[in-house]
Amino acid sequence: MTQSSAPAARLEVRHLTRAFGGKPVVADLSLTIAAGQVTCLLGPSGCGKSTTLRMIAGVERPDAGRIEIDGRLVSGEGSFLPPEARSVGLMFQDFALFPHLTVAQNVAFGLRDGREAKARRVDELLERVNLRGYGAKHPHELSGGEQQRVALARALAPRPRVMLMDEPFSGLDNRLRDGIRDTTLEVLKEEGTAVLLVTHEPDEALRMGDEIALMRDGRIVQRGSPYNVYNAPVDRAAAAFFSDVN
Ligand code: ADP
Ligand code: MG
Repeated sequence: MTQSSAPAARLEVRHLTRAFGGKPVVADLSLTIAAGQVTCLLGPSGCGKSTTLRMIAGVERPDAGRIEIDGRLVSGEGSFLPPEARSVGLMFQDFALFPHLTVAQNVAFGLRDGREAKARRVDELLERVNLRGYGAKHPHELSGGEQQRVALARALAPRPRVMLMDEPFSGLDNRLRDGIRDTTLEVLKEEGTAVLLVTHEPDEALRMGDEIALMRDGRIVQRGSPYNVYNAPVDRAAAAFFSDVN
């Protein structure tokens, strides 16, 4: 019998390690995310954020460490589940929609439900991302921001336990970005998904994260609330990294 009363972590990463050509890129990295929580993995370009996310997604093999999703071991101790067996949703900057499929078909793509349940889920998600009535359109008829909202609906459709987002907004106009960030947060909170959002932009992490994990040279150097990380940087380099935010 287990005595723990703490809510189970949706994502639990322990001692994750990866080197390329002898050069350590992710070094002994650990993090935990609960349901409905957004953790922003923040750090300068090249510090190992995408490699971390790719290992959690199951498209890159760790050298060492373990990954659990919803209490299930998906990587480590000799096991390595493929992405489609991990219950993860993926959103990347250049993770394009299928151009030959309609919006509704794009959103339904990962669903294995019957026709009616599928249609219900698609409608529900299009409504959530404020694209009601867009189901029959094709991606090229949509703006960049609208396409990104369809991508969000598509990633969420199979109800993934964990959502992995790698700089998902960096291809968008500044003008559009704030609105899409807000919509995305709202939808993710409604769905109760645990989110790992990778970004190199401090203002994005401060705006979107319940927690920020600040990364440098393959390691997490500080973890805390946005308030804490911004107001009590762990060292001068961390302070400098946040100094451009106003
Ligand atoms: P970030 O997303 O923080 O910008 P990445 O995880 O993409 O950083 O990359 C971290 C480092 O690992 C970089 O120096 C990059 O060149 C290197 N790297 C990433 N993937 C590979 C690979 N497949 N082969 C060799 N080096 C890689
Ligand atoms: Mg990257």
